[in-house]
Amino acid sequence: MTHQPRPATDRRRTAEVVVIGGGIVGACCADLLAAAGRTVVVVERGSLTGGTTAAGEGNILVSDKLPGPELELALDSNRRWRAMGDELGATIELDPKGGLVVAATDDGLAALHALTTRQRAAGVEVELVDVAGMHALEPHLTPRLAGGAFYPQDLQVQPVLAVAHLLRRARAAGAELRAGVEVTGVEREPSGRVRGVTTTDGPIETPVVVNATGVGSDALARLAGIDEGLPVQPRRGHILVTEPLPRLVHRKVYDADYVGTLGSGQADLEVSSVIEGTAGGTILIGSSRERVGFDRTTNPAALAAMAARAIALFPVLVRARVIRSYLGFRPWTPDHLPIIGEDPRVPGLWHATGHEGAGIGLAPATAALVAAGITGTPPPLDPTPFRPDRPTLVGVGTDS
Ligand SMILES: Cc1cc2nc3c(=O)[nH]c(=O)nc-3n(C[C@H](O)[C@H](O)[C@H](O)COP(=O)(O)OP(=O)(O)OC[C@H]3O[C@@H](n4cnc5c(N)ncnc54)[C@H](O)[C@@H]3O)c2cc1C
Repeated sequence: MTHQPRPATDRRRTAEVVVIGGGIVGACCADLLAAAGRTVVVVERGSLTGGTTAAGEGNILVSDKLPGPELELALDSNRRWRAMGDELGATIELDPKGGLVVAATDDGLAALHALTTRQRAAGVEVELVDVAGMHALEPHLTPRLAGGAFYPQDLQVQPVLAVAHLLRRARAAGAELRAGVEVTGVEREPSGRVRGVTTTDGPIETPVVVNATGVGSDALARLAGIDEGLPVQPRRGHILVTEPLPRLVHRKVYDADYVGTLGSGQADLEVSSVIEGTAGGTILIGSSRERVGFDRTTNPAALAAMAARAIALFPVLVRARVIRSYLGFRPWTPDHLPIIGEDPRVPGLWHATGHEGAGIGLAPATAALVAAGITGTPPPLDPTPFRPDRPTLVGVGTDS
């Protein structure tokens, strides 16, 4: 995304809020805060959307969430994405395609059925589908399946386009965007409260900083004087991209094992099948999960396992050519919940981070919680489970 940088003399040296991070979470926060009338500066050290957001497939899922706070956040976000789609529509490639979860064995199907019962009670729309029903939805699926479940609320968005449009809207409402500028320090009053930030482009005075730096959140917390940091670690994931093909995969399709790998904290490689078509005709094949720090080396074993699983689900893909693969780092937290809220150790520092593999889906509700807290308006849902000082995070060090 390109934008005209302001001349240095025009740049704001004070702001009501500085949002650090030009990914999907920072963009959603900037959009809501600017709409609420706050003067906002967004600071991004690389290019806008140059972080994990560009690696995301753009799934906005309720289907992979267990009942609890993350599902509540996902349901709220799902409504917000739909409302955004009404306004931004095709420009962000928002596709209400729905998600199809498939089980290969009777045991897997029984577990999936049990999960759907709990999810339905928590407000998720889900329909059980037999093998014939699955083939009506996805004609190219293997016949060697036990059954599945269809989730009509699941959506897909093009995350880079979404960030571009959200930041454009924020800028129209008065926000200033500074790409290629790194925050190098968070200044504090003697009382400990935030006073401003230092950047590679000079200081900005502000009483409120939003830490939307994804896998950079631990480092940012340390810059703010939190010696123990924030327990957000990179969890690497790969995606394979096929050549553009006629539409072979209509929904987001994934195997029932996927939900298990999400919740696991395992550091070693885990692979599950997540397959979907895109508006451009390519098919995205995921996904892998491994905690190997910030190692950007492609893992061929992960790619081979992902391809094999995809072909097992969609045998037609055996003839598809892969044109590229890419990887990114999910911001993982030890209790699998994002960290959202003001840090009691540094008043004025708001975290909006730690969404692991669901940050695109969860960003709008995250921003709504942050904006409500900063503007002193009622939160859209209970923020307590996400607070930075929750017992399941306190005392958990970072080991990457
Ligand atoms: C392979 C893969 C597939 C995924 N698929 C999906 C999916 O389908 N659906 C979904 O919801 N999620 C998905 N995710 C997860 C999702 O991409 C992330 O949760 C989300 O992008 C995190 O967004 P963010 O804005 O928090 O972080 P980022 O997008 O990483 O943005 C943070 C930004 O902060 C900047 N920054 C850091 N430190 C500083 C500093 N000191 N000064 C200035 N700027 C700084 C960085 O440069 C970066 O651009 C996937 C992730 C991967 C890896």
